[in-house]
Amino acid sequence: MPGVYEVAPGVYRIPLPLPMQGLTAVNSYLFTGADGLVYVDPGFSDDANRQAIERAFAELGHSISDITTCIATHHHWDHYAQAYAWRGEIGSKLYIGHEERHSILGFDLDAEVRYPTQTEQLAEAGAQAVSRAIAEGEPSEMEQNTPYGPPDGWLSGGDRIELADGGLEVIATPGHTRGHVILRHTASGVLVTGDHVLPFITPSIGFEWSPEPQPLQSFLRSLGQTLELPDGALLPAHGPVLGSTHARVKEQIAHHDERLAEVLELIGRRPSSSYEVARQMKWTRRARALDDLPVEHQMIAISEIRAHLEMLRLQGRAQTVDDDGVLRYAPASDQNPRASSSATA
Ligand SMILES: [Zn+2]
Repeated sequence: MPGVYEVAPGVYRIPLPLPMQGLTAVNSYLFTGADGLVYVDPGFSDDANRQAIERAFAELGHSISDITTCIATHHHWDHYAQAYAWRGEIGSKLYIGHEERHSILGFDLDAEVRYPTQTEQLAEAGAQAVSRAIAEGEPSEMEQNTPYGPPDGWLSGGDRIELADGGLEVIATPGHTRGHVILRHTASGVLVTGDHVLPFITPSIGFEWSPEPQPLQSFLRSLGQTLELPDGALLPAHGPVLGSTHARVKEQIAHHDERLAEVLELIGRRPSSSYEVARQMKWTRRARALDDLPVEHQMIAISEIRAHLEMLRLQGRAQTVDDDGVLRYAPASDQNPRASSSATA
């Protein structure tokens, strides 16, 4: 629902429309800073987005030029592109997590091999055709036309953005992307969670130009650290506000425990590559076969399975078997002292 929603005293949720398939809206969050407005995740840079923001700001008696600081929870366009475009237009400053620099600075429209890390991992997973299709793919029109580049400054965990009333504490939560951050509003205790914690879906892991080697390990750690923060209302980037961030974090952890068990069961039948496991699973809400997905979604799905297989290996529950250049996984042999029957690590 478009509009302006006060979700804590002085904290406004402004949903913004998205042109992407699947996700139809992103929540932006507006705060009053020490010397101007502080705006978090102000959406994708198109006319519909600007119009929605202008309407919401008019309702609040603000104008766009009152924005002095934008923060993006991560570098995906639906969070970053508008804030990036505004830098030249209204002179606002844009900040994002320091670890986002790998994908932001590495991104190259003219790259000879697109998604170089994933391309290699896909080949290693035995998905040669997907690997080639990704490597040789052309940038989409949206990719070519979306304003994109480095921010004005990088944030680290422990940083604080001063507000008229209290501040926003920056907490590093790598996983969805390697430099993802969430923000804790000190005055109200609410948590702006970006895509790290979402009410109805679990975020994709490591879908970015330069992913880290073990994104699921980072993500599960970040979820654990989120449980160590005082619980507060969940202000997600997509979907409704929920009363308890901790409750939803626990569900996301349980979801990945189930996923890990399911993947372990599949490699127990026969040693399998990430690709072979992914082909045995159903994808999207409509339970589609891997081969029926668009090639970029196949890449995301196979990376997701790779992340789970690697997590099982790190937990000592799986081991790798190199089979003529294709990396297959099998349950860890019982002799392996690190092997554990416990579902948690
Ligand atoms: Zn995202």
